[in-house]
Amino acid sequence: MTKAARAPASPRRGVGLAVTEPAPSQKTPAPVQLSLGFDVPAAPAAPTNATAAAAPGPDRHVVLSGERCSYTLRRARRRTIGFQIDDRGLTISAPRWVSLRDIEIAILEKERWIRTRLEQWRQWRAKRQLPQVNFADGGQLPFLGGTITLRLRADLRASELAAGPNGDELRLALPADAAEVQVRDAVQAWLKEQATRVLGERLDALSTRNGVRYTSWALSSARSQWGSCAADGRIRLNWRLVHFTLPVIDYVVAHELAHLKELNHSPQFWAQVARLLPGFEAARDHIRKEDLASLPL
Ligand SMILES: [Zn+2]
Repeated sequence: MTKAARAPASPRRGVGLAVTEPAPSQKTPAPVQLSLGFDVPAAPAAPTNATAAAAPGPDRHVVLSGERCSYTLRRARRRTIGFQIDDRGLTISAPRWVSLRDIEIAILEKERWIRTRLEQWRQWRAKRQLPQVNFADGGQLPFLGGTITLRLRADLRASELAAGPNGDELRLALPADAAEVQVRDAVQAWLKEQATRVLGERLDALSTRNGVRYTSWALSSARSQWGSCAADGRIRLNWRLVHFTLPVIDYVVAHELAHLKELNHSPQFWAQVARLLPGFEAARDHIRKEDLASLPL
């Protein structure tokens, strides 16, 4: 957002309102690997235990500091015991001739390393818990900063937003037993329609009020940018902005309109944003915390 030095992704000159770089801990940690050397025995023996063969998923466990730790054991043609920790947990690759007992001893030797890495992955997964929308009657999703409930109504000819007994309902012209993908498509189509209307209205309102002119605008579906403004005055706004409140939408609109005068993120640019939308800071801080990549739609 404030990365003035960053070149725009498109070769066409312009600037985009990029999603804030996730903190390092939010990025997918790279799988970590470690290998532990073993002396190759004079005569490699076949595995003594038949159950030691590879199995899908965590199939074994050891106790680390009183806590059960599952791991997947892979018998591999290698000379060392390999430890890998990724989203699936701990995987041990070991030569066929290393006994289970020796593998467990090796795990215990690397206990601190394993526990640290497993905890990093656990935290990463917790952060990535995506908000799930149940695309069926009764499912709920965010709209303009509030929550709307989905209703499937075969008697309707078109989707409509209406007041229900427990708040706003998005009534979709679909039979009660419509497939999840049908519901999802209908919801997305409706949200894009709303985005065209709402974002268009806010662009008109803010540009007219401030006497600025843009060439044209279009919806975008980018998973990396809330909006962008090209040097020729064309603005793109992400349709997913309809999930948020009008002040947040206004901030993104004002941000892109400000780029019509300042194609950068200099102090002069921020002065333009303030002129277009006094008191924009709270909305800017709000959207900086949102993760566009993890919105439910
Ligand atoms: Zn910008």
